Amino acid sequence: MTLPEKVSAVTNVFEQLDAHIATFQSQTTLHCKFGCGKCCFKPDIEASVLEFLPFAFFLYQNKQAEQWLEQLESKTDSVCLILNPTQAGAGLCSAYMHRGLICRLFGYSARTNKYGKKELVTCQIIKTEQAQAYQSTTQKIEELNVPVMNQVYMQLHAIDFELAQKFYPINQAIQHAIETVLHYFAYRD
Ligand code: SF4
Repeated sequence: MTLPEKVSAVTNVFEQLDAHIATFQSQTTLHCKFGCGKCCFKPDIEASVLEFLPFAFFLYQNKQAEQWLEQLESKTDSVCLILNPTQAGAGLCSAYMHRGLICRLFGYSARTNKYGKKELVTCQIIKTEQAQAYQSTTQKIEELNVPVMNQVYMQLHAIDFELAQKFYPINQAIQHAIETVLHYFAYRD
């Protein structure tokens, strides 16, 4: 698979997942608070390189890849560089269309515990401010068509195992994704 084909395959996985999450949200009424972006401020978010390949490809196509790479190389804290705390609107992600897999899954997906049961992975704000919907969702989680983290990660593994299997702090994952794209096109353009 060429790099643009991988980007397209990852984007397809994301689009299917987004539709799945939208259905889950409407079934459960769980939703992010308007303007929130608190989960993005976590300094320990980890991601794979592959999930940021569409973002890196977008930067490359828009001639912003080198500039982002420089900013990532000189960044001193570990909060996601894509986060824009001053952004107005529904959230604070400055590249929402191209955000990573973890950014899409968090809040609206389940992991499978050691007993094979699904557990909703969501934030404290949803747990407390939407307590009724949260409790009702966790009680019937096995019956609901909730996205399951492992299953979506397996879809990325099938696209490129090397780029999907290892997790890095989010800014490093973005940096490696940009380096991967620049390296690929260095020999082609
Ligand atoms: S990519 Fe966007 S959604 Fe994901 S952590 Fe960064 S700012 Fe948040």
